[in-house]
Amino acid sequence: MRDGRKRIALVAHDAKKADMLQWARYNRGILAGHDLVATGTTGRLLSDDLSLPIECLLSGPLGGDQQVGAMIADRRIDLLVFFCDPLTAQPHEPDVQALMRLAGVWNVPIAINRATADLAIASPLFYDRAYTPETPDYRAHEQRQVPAGA
Ligand code: PGA
Repeated sequence: MRDGRKRIALVAHDAKKADMLQWARYNRGILAGHDLVATGTTGRLLSDDLSLPIECLLSGPLGGDQQVGAMIADRRIDLLVFFCDPLTAQPHEPDVQALMRLAGVWNVPIAINRATADLAIASPLFYDRAYTPETPDYRAHEQRQVPAGA
């Protein structure tokens, strides 16, 4: 957390972009107090609509999901709001899975629908400076013995 501000990543599949816009409009006042980063198209739609500064990455299918994943691995994301479309196969499904997996690896909260996103940013813990989600300890993994060959 930086001065009470958190960095929130925003991603919406095409069929969920209207949902994302409605959610963001409803929560504009809260979002204005945080640093926002988004995949390209989601970010452009939101910044046009909300007039808020948003760091726009590449479009999701062009590498934006992976950029968000890299930010999660670097511990630079406090909340991932990722409205994914459960009814449409995505050409970049491997990237979608990788992004969700990294949120799991690093214990980063991830909201995949509006109800969860509302609960996440309304949670008192989200604003409690004394609370930081635990960062998993992967030292055992990093220090494991692996066959190194001859
Ligand atoms: P987009 O990407 O914001 O560039 O549309 C979202 C996604 O990952 O599908």
